[in-house]
Amino acid sequence: MIPKISMHSLNPLFVLWGATKKSEMHLIAKKGAAQIRVKVGPLIREDDQMSFQSVRLWKATACLTLLVTLLGDMPAARGGETADPLPVTEVASGVYVYIGAIAVMTPQNEGAIANVGFIVGSSAVAVIDSGGSLREGRRLLAAVRAVTTKPIRYVINTHAHPDHMFGNAAFDGAVVIGHKNLPRALAARGQFYLDAFRRVLGNELMTGIKIVPPTQIVDREARIDLGDRMLLLQAWRAAHTDNDLTVLDETTATLFAGDLVFLRHLPVLDGSLKGWLAVIGELTRIPAARVVPGHGPIADWPAALEDERTYLQLLAQHVRALVKGGKTITAVSRNVAESERTRWELFEENNVRNATAAYSEFEWE
Ligand SMILES: [Zn+2]
Repeated sequence: MIPKISMHSLNPLFVLWGATKKSEMHLIAKKGAAQIRVKVGPLIREDDQMSFQSVRLWKATACLTLLVTLLGDMPAARGGETADPLPVTEVASGVYVYIGAIAVMTPQNEGAIANVGFIVGSSAVAVIDSGGSLREGRRLLAAVRAVTTKPIRYVINTHAHPDHMFGNAAFDGAVVIGHKNLPRALAARGQFYLDAFRRVLGNELMTGIKIVPPTQIVDREARIDLGDRMLLLQAWRAAHTDNDLTVLDETTATLFAGDLVFLRHLPVLDGSLKGWLAVIGELTRIPAARVVPGHGPIADWPAALEDERTYLQLLAQHVRALVKGGKTITAVSRNVAESERTRWELFEENNVRNATAAYSEFEWE
């Protein structure tokens, strides 16, 4: 029997080990959800005479190996395959989705607030958004691996927000695809996101998170083939952000809309309100049967757009009236779109910010 010695890496690293005279050992180290197993041996055969000195030397070497493995970049594949798989649902044949919490990013939810998913073709897999932490990215990777061993060829980022791309580093080796404006957005804001979310999520959860920019960009439209399965990628004008990209799985008519579509979670404006309302009109023409919104439940298409359109239209109408009436930006922050308050979650957290963003946009009309 091979003895197993567990090494629990808390903060700081806490190591347990025992002497053994068996031929082989497995050292297991856990760091968060990731697990590393190091096979060492053959070390001591039953009949070997091993001096106390060499046992100590071996122990030191084994620990050093483990520490180097832990402290360096944990290989994504190894860390991910032993992470707890995200509980994904197959929403259409070969289309898997994890529905994020309707919440802001916290250490408790590990940043897992956006919907993320993957699509499996006959030869490859595409991941759509990687989650709000490296840990979530690794759990998504584990969810893929629980379904298929096919290579993950693409990671598609629907836009630059941290809850959608902080997990990118889990997918080493994949082609990262984004809107043509995504590299610029990440260059401008990436470091800010890393600093700001270190304060929100804490050092441990931020470990290993990297801003991984796209290696393939979409100017207007592009198609990628996962093997008997085409995905249509569309880059939109400024709406939720200035780098929104949607993904249509043509096989099942499933649309991954990113944050161009919010349900239950109040829409958050970080691009252009006028643009977003115009894009909503264009989105209705996408021949989808269902939508995976950036936040909120899977829904029928295009009915899923209605709540969002109502809120954004009201926001535009109120803010425009305030700007025309010569009201200050402070006046704008109260009572705008108030009738929508009870129809959404996270209204309090986002409505004032939306009104302020809309005010800045309409001020220059
Ligand atoms: Zn977003």
